[in-house]
Amino acid sequence: MQRINNVVKLREELAALRASGARVGFVPTMGNLHAGHYSLIEEARHHAEVVVASVFVNPTQFGPNEDFARYPRTLESDADGLAAAGCDLMFVPDSSTIYPFGAQQSVRVQVPVVSETLDGTLRPGHFDGVASVVARLFNLVQPDIAVFGRKDFQQLLVIRRMVDDLAFPIQIVGAPIIREANGLAMSSRNQYLTVEQREQAAAIFNTLGWMKALHDTGGTPADIESAAMLRLRDSGLDPDYATIRHATDLSDLPAGHAGQRVPAVALIAARLGETRLIDNLEFLSADVMCA
Ligand code: AMP
Repeated sequence: MQRINNVVKLREELAALRASGARVGFVPTMGNLHAGHYSLIEEARHHAEVVVASVFVNPTQFGPNEDFARYPRTLESDADGLAAAGCDLMFVPDSSTIYPFGAQQSVRVQVPVVSETLDGTLRPGHFDGVASVVARLFNLVQPDIAVFGRKDFQQLLVIRRMVDDLAFPIQIVGAPIIREANGLAMSSRNQYLTVEQREQAAAIFNTLGWMKALHDTGGTPADIESAAMLRLRDSGLDPDYATIRHATDLSDLPAGHAGQRVPAVALIAARLGETRLIDNLEFLSADVMCA
């Protein structure tokens, strides 16, 4: 695997590979890689002959009181892991490559609707930062396909909407969530958790399954939401939200949808100590009234 931090070299390498007919698959990351990230490399490999992964801790997607400074940076083990996962090229840009005019003076990409709920309102500017960095990375790498984890479900919708709206000629693939044995979704932020907290955090995935079951038996979204918040609090978590939404745009589910099954998603964001965790569970909503 090659490691490249320079745009000219990146473009030269990729141009040569493209000239030989290879499709380019791309996996953007912030590093501190785990099995969830490596599964995206494998997924990209199914769609492309050449797989590029980027590692860049993007300052513009962190709020002022978030963990940008202490976000774990583990470049050497990331390189080993990417090579083992079959990545061909690791792109490690520095901040001036991504933001030549400085992060504060840079062009920002704002994605309406799907950015305007849940984490979009709780983390102001977060999805602008995500869309802005991914748009730049797409222009630098110019992939044919790019893989994103369904773990960051709202982020995946934001990227899809940006790509459709700005006509990026890139196919976006959503890859399944990789979990620990107890159901906890893998995340770089799990590093902040103690061994006991990791066990406690399994309540998030358990609660998602429980929300789906309540929905299947006709529970109303409002009742399910308040019951799920209580259940998370009882497990020692401090939830920001626990909600069931339409999976295509995160709008509220229609009040009654007898006779039709809609793609739905249960989503949770919750704090455990200082650590904020997110997870979700997609399902087809039951064929019931939920007025
Ligand atoms: P990050 O480095 O956290 O920005 O994540 C980079 C990519 O990896 C994003 O597309 C995430 O959705 C994806 N990802 C992170 N954790 C997981 C996981 N447990 N399963 C699947 N994809 C994941």
